[in-house]
Amino acid sequence: MTSLAHFENIAAALDLPSEPVIDGRLLPSLTGRTFANVTPRNGTVINHVEECGAADIDAAVSAARRAFEDGRWRNLHYREKKRILFALADLMERDAETLAVLESLDVGKPIKEALNVDLPQAVRTLRYYAEALDKVYGEVGPETSDRFSFSVHEPLGVVGAIVPWNFPLHMAMWKVAPALAMGNSVVLKPAEQSPMTALKLGQLALEAGVPPGLLNVVPGFGHTAGKALALHMDVDMIAFTGSGAVGRLLMQYSGESNLKRVSLELGGKSPQIIFADCPDLKEAALHAAWGIFYNQGEVCTAASRLLVQEEIADAFIDELIKVARDIVPGDPLEPATNFGAMVSAEQMQTALRYIESAASDGAALRLGGKRVREESGGFYVEPTVFDNVAPSAALAREEVFGPVLAVITFKEPDEAIRLANDTVYGLAAGLWTRDISLAHRAAREIRAGLVWVNGWDACDITMPFGGFKQSGFGRDRSLHALHKYADLKSVSITLR
Ligand code: NAD
Repeated sequence: MTSLAHFENIAAALDLPSEPVIDGRLLPSLTGRTFANVTPRNGTVINHVEECGAADIDAAVSAARRAFEDGRWRNLHYREKKRILFALADLMERDAETLAVLESLDVGKPIKEALNVDLPQAVRTLRYYAEALDKVYGEVGPETSDRFSFSVHEPLGVVGAIVPWNFPLHMAMWKVAPALAMGNSVVLKPAEQSPMTALKLGQLALEAGVPPGLLNVVPGFGHTAGKALALHMDVDMIAFTGSGAVGRLLMQYSGESNLKRVSLELGGKSPQIIFADCPDLKEAALHAAWGIFYNQGEVCTAASRLLVQEEIADAFIDELIKVARDIVPGDPLEPATNFGAMVSAEQMQTALRYIESAASDGAALRLGGKRVREESGGFYVEPTVFDNVAPSAALAREEVFGPVLAVITFKEPDEAIRLANDTVYGLAAGLWTRDISLAHRAAREIRAGLVWVNGWDACDITMPFGGFKQSGFGRDRSLHALHKYADLKSVSITLR
């Protein structure tokens, strides 16, 4: 079994990436500034990362534009594009431990998850789109004797990808892989909390033979680098995952600049409904607990509202607490840890504020509620469960993005469906029942982009991912995501 010492040795020997990748080169930023990169594991600064500003963004967009226009990638034979993207996937596997350690240090994620979930998922995503890139067909229009018409999917040009810190490499790959597969160039701006795996990805892409300028990586802050990218007149699309507040700004920036396309994967307040005829209470409790506590609750699809039918509520909550008691915050680099640190002091304070407000709103604290491992200097919050949460309370309505669960009870199925929809969000929902008719009706009536019956997060790259309502629009994953990075062109040839 690999040990803490093994991963600490990898971390100590690492040359932590810090420079932007622009036009195939690693260079200091044009701002002349760097920013401190803090690990939530123990609150220390692990390196200083080059801080890109508007001039760096401009250089990256220009490089991406040149690479797009001269056809070095989009006109490459599809077999060659595929070979290069597969080579990148192989290099990611070769460096899996390095990438996992970088991710774990940057965001406090357990190394076990970084290595066994994030990395394989990112690699699978890349291979899926590499496999798919020569299976995108156009259409032939209705026949007439004097005209031949067809439509083709054409790449958009320069795609700006702005991603969050909760699954840094995996979320980046959800954008980068389909965008490149469709023949676009990409400028990737990682979150300031988690730049390292994106920078390493940019380096590996060059090693794999992705032509210079095709994948540029620009670390920096949202209100400077991110804003400059989203306002840039030569960016054709912004593909975004992050908060609703920034999503709103991106639409505004699009309107103020060149009406670039925007796709938004935003937050959620996803309900998990346990009906009284739940087929397996123990299994459902396991999913309810991990549905909220996975990745320290920093998951856009976190099952943060648990709706339980009254007659089984006591038994179910007891079962849930039994599972949650065994989820104990630990050192992210320790291989046995399954619950790590929150990404930053700010995110930890946000979770602690919601815990305080839930208590003063009259909810009953059933588990957790405190910061722990303070002596480590890191940012750890216990898995926390509140019962008797009023549907109008902040904890039932606002996204915490931390390990805090709101339990609400209901009497009738229709009430559960109404409560499930009583939110501005619509990302995901889960429901547990033996009744196929109820499952089907509820799945159709709940306004969410993803609905799981008798399971949580039970699908993969093959199925579209994205939200209804204020959880955003546009889909990641599946073949639908390829089309997001393309425009349809109709060509009609008059036959003379
Ligand atoms: P955030 O919106 O603050 O930041 C996301 C990215 O946007 C970062 O790269 C940041 O630098 C950038 N950014 C910030 N201000 C910007 C600006 N003015 N212009 C351009 N870019 C800017 O979100 P976060 O704190 O990193 O992530 C948490 C949020 O992301 C949560 O709300 C969560 O639900 C959501 N999220 C959604 C999904 C999904 O697929 N739906 C997945 C993960 C996270």
